[in-house]
Amino acid sequence: MMKTKGYAAFTCDTPLAPFSFERRAPRENDIVMEILYCGVCHSDLHWAHNDWGWTSYPVAPGHEIVGRVIETGNAVTRYKVGGAVAVGCMVDSCQSCDQCRKGLEQLCREGNTGTYGGRDRITGEPTQGGYSKYLVVREEFALRVPEGLDLSRAAPLLCAGITTYSPLRTWNVGPGSRVGVVGLGGLGHMAVKLAAGMGAEVTVLSRHQGKEADALALGAARLLVSTDAAAMAKAASGFDLIIDTVPVKHDLNLYLPLLDVDGTLVLVGQIGPVAEPSTVPLILGRRRITGSPIGGIAETQEMLDFCARKNILPECEMINIQDINTAFERMDRADVRYRFVIDMASLDA
Ligand SMILES: [Zn+2]
Ligand SMILES: [Zn+2]
Repeated sequence: MMKTKGYAAFTCDTPLAPFSFERRAPRENDIVMEILYCGVCHSDLHWAHNDWGWTSYPVAPGHEIVGRVIETGNAVTRYKVGGAVAVGCMVDSCQSCDQCRKGLEQLCREGNTGTYGGRDRITGEPTQGGYSKYLVVREEFALRVPEGLDLSRAAPLLCAGITTYSPLRTWNVGPGSRVGVVGLGGLGHMAVKLAAGMGAEVTVLSRHQGKEADALALGAARLLVSTDAAAMAKAASGFDLIIDTVPVKHDLNLYLPLLDVDGTLVLVGQIGPVAEPSTVPLILGRRRITGSPIGGIAETQEMLDFCARKNILPECEMINIQDINTAFERMDRADVRYRFVIDMASLDA
């Protein structure tokens, strides 16, 4: 066992606080990583606050994890001590069902094992996330951070990046694709950068004109104000894919007429009920509403390699772990451009 420092939520309504716990002794196919940076995802906050009703405490959140390998089990073949490595939202899956065999571990029939808030498939112990000094993970669920990708900014790719990359790939976005992005936060800003990097024509949908300069700087071709009924009517049937990153309950009916025939609205930001959608635009335009959870390990590696090749990196605001509660408050009111990243060296301060 290996003593690890971190920060955890101990109840649903108290601030995150220092937490000492044990990581398992590495098994033969495990790597041990020292965590250098960890992104702060909206899910971390939901989990800490038990917003979904399934949190058990204490829980150290964090599933956008970047660091270096400091030890490897005897059977590890893909990683060497000193290598740059990353871990995202899952640390295990059954590895034998049809979905796992297709590289879709996120859709494992038995459920994947969450990086935090899950249960180790062998010992049953609760998994703990990246708001900590060390992590032990089987090598199949570690990602290689390509050379040239700035480690201090790469962490948000592991959730915000893959969550938006995967639907772009699933619906074959490329040059000529017309992609809309709803919500310009951690997920949304990555959706813009990634879709633009794939050659798509990207439109940011926002309730206010105020985000236009940011949208264009991130790579969008334009910003469409969703409260401007005339502009919205003019944009009807003009999109192949809309990625909806809004993290709270909202009305989809506004966006459905924007889709072309066979167009897809994919929800990635909100877990829970949406306002009642009308089937009229769905039936008349053969449009569809769907959702998408993160991505498989192979696709996550593909995304990291794509970002290195295209020099695509999240916009990050670096914080110390001691500032995590302020970061949660600011994230809750969307006061971040666009992702907080914890410099884990601050744990030792
Ligand atoms: Zn996340
Ligand atoms: Zn499986």
